[in-house]
Amino acid sequence: MFNKILIANRGEIACRIIRTAKKLGIKTVAVYSEADASARHVSLADEAIEIGPAPAGQSYLVIDKIIDAALKTAAEAIHPGYGFLSENAEFAEACIQNKIVFIGPSVEAIKAMGSKSRAKQIMQDASVPLVPGYHGDDQTASLLKAEAEKTGYPIIIKASAGGGGKGMRVVEIDREFNDSLDAVKREAMSSFADDHVLIEKYLRKPRHIEIQVFCDNDGHAVYLFERDCSVQRRHQKVVEEAPAPGMDPSRREALGKAAITAAKAINYVGAGTVEFIVDEDGTFYFMEMNTRLQVEHPVTELITGQDLVEWQLRVASGESLPCSQKELSINGHALEARIYAEDPDRDFLPATGLLSHLRFARDSRHVRIDTGVRQGDSVSMHYDPMIAKLIVWDHDRDSCLRRMIRALNETQVVGVSTNIDFLTSLVSHAAFQAADLDTGFIARHHEQLFLDSQQVDEHILALAALYILLSREKQAKAGAEKSSDPYSPWHTTHAWQANLDSVEELCFNEKELEHVVLVHYRKQSTVLQINDRQIMASGTLSDDGDLSANLDGTRTHVTVVENADTLSILHGGNSCQLTLLNKTDHGGDEEATPGSLISPMPGKVIAVLAKVGDQVKKGTPLLILEAMKMEHTISAPRNGTVSALHYGVGDMLDEGVELLVVEE
Ligand code: ADP
Repeated sequence: MFNKILIANRGEIACRIIRTAKKLGIKTVAVYSEADASARHVSLADEAIEIGPAPAGQSYLVIDKIIDAALKTAAEAIHPGYGFLSENAEFAEACIQNKIVFIGPSVEAIKAMGSKSRAKQIMQDASVPLVPGYHGDDQTASLLKAEAEKTGYPIIIKASAGGGGKGMRVVEIDREFNDSLDAVKREAMSSFADDHVLIEKYLRKPRHIEIQVFCDNDGHAVYLFERDCSVQRRHQKVVEEAPAPGMDPSRREALGKAAITAAKAINYVGAGTVEFIVDEDGTFYFMEMNTRLQVEHPVTELITGQDLVEWQLRVASGESLPCSQKELSINGHALEARIYAEDPDRDFLPATGLLSHLRFARDSRHVRIDTGVRQGDSVSMHYDPMIAKLIVWDHDRDSCLRRMIRALNETQVVGVSTNIDFLTSLVSHAAFQAADLDTGFIARHHEQLFLDSQQVDEHILALAALYILLSREKQAKAGAEKSSDPYSPWHTTHAWQANLDSVEELCFNEKELEHVVLVHYRKQSTVLQINDRQIMASGTLSDDGDLSANLDGTRTHVTVVENADTLSILHGGNSCQLTLLNKTDHGGDEEATPGSLISPMPGKVIAVLAKVGDQVKKGTPLLILEAMKMEHTISAPRNGTVSALHYGVGDMLDEGVELLVVEE
């Protein structure tokens, strides 16, 4: 076994590999870009080497820098993780030339599967079933069109060098063929510098089922069963599970054998995944083989009880496979949900920002969290916006689903928009529960899956108001403890003590709507009045923002995260954002300029819609920020005059900086 390995990756996968290396007593070397200097994977590794600026093209993708880091630290092997250089034959070759073990298959195997067309030709020769279509070298447009007609519409045009759901287009009728071909070629050229394409019959309601295979240098090969990855958005997986619901043992065996035939056809060694597309009648076809560890490998680990990274390390160091096919079996069911910084309501556009609050369900026998971030880290525009993978296991699918929903409810992220609510709707959906799965699932159930986000109701407003009162009390207490006269009446939190009227108005803003809570300070109690309803409120607030509220005798537990004047109220997987409009400062050293507007995320100014001196009405859009492709409009919080404007179009800014000021 190796003494030291280098991990040529970042984020959750680097952390995941380090975990197994530690278990096996192997020392680890992390590499990191300037942006990742304090990233989790760096702190977990024994050593870490900086490899350049934030853009991956100048750091994580630079072969020489990674090889140098391995030589400098005397790492015997390199684990490439997934993405980045994991399927790069040139990188595998560079490792070999420098006498470093590449933890993955041979250069030839990577090359063979690197082109979807070439892979299909090899599989055809090995009698692995293929989706009907054309994968030849002649790329003349008229020939491709004739092949599409021969295959029969609908067809899908794919970039041979494609991956990650990019460079694919479905064509329904022949008159759309030429335009679609041009579009795929353009995208393939710009993303993969290779515009070779193939044509496949487009299956209307298929499932994506993939088989995990493993082979060693002694000619042993096993399959670790299947994963169902049918639920996808933009041809990318979101939720994966193992085993595939409804899979009968004979079909499983047929798929497993086909996958091993595929692996043997290219003398495969190590962990690989053979992806099949399965038609409604159960007929399966080879789609492609991924010559690396997959993002969704944990579901296989949880149902087989095996550590696939350990298998990779053992095989790469020359050992035989730890298990034979007979020794492998399926135990229970596992589901994985990918938690992304993205906006499902905007076609899943990636989001960036500071993870100002981050809490996951607790790790246990049933729940596993694979993540590369901690609270306070940023999701930057340079890398994949995945925050974590939430993986759950139980004895059967139904129990597993219940666990997944609970674990999603316990996941709290503030600072970036996420797909958590969407994932909760997805796994709670009756059709998902009934395992009526195919790759069109999200599109088909669009209406029910994209419900309006949580409406602010009286309950939420009461919780927000109670939070404000309790946090003031906390601040006053802290202030009193520091003060020379801790008993001074000026530490009372009812700031209106000077007023004889013991009613205070708290105004909250939520998506341009204003909500008022009247706080009645009575002798023995505090009563919150929202519209005509009066709610007796009390509670306790922890330093972590956990609020235990008693509203009219009903107890509720929520977490409240305060960021500038915005409160995020997190409860049972839902979150609501409210802005306190009339915040009185009860402590704290820094006071923001009244009426100042703060940037909610790091990004770029793409439009300035007002100028200094403009009279604006509450809600008037003033400035538009963009982070990745997501736009965020900054609107006037009140009627007034723009008295300062600090940025112009094209300026890059950090989160929390003052953008402009609107004076009353
Ligand atoms: P990538 O390498 O970009 O992941 P794949 O070839 O693996 O691309 O396909 C990704 C997804 O696209 C599949 O999981 C499936 O949902 C869809 N897809 C691919 N080929 C077909 C096809 N022939 N018919 C229907 N859907 C397909």
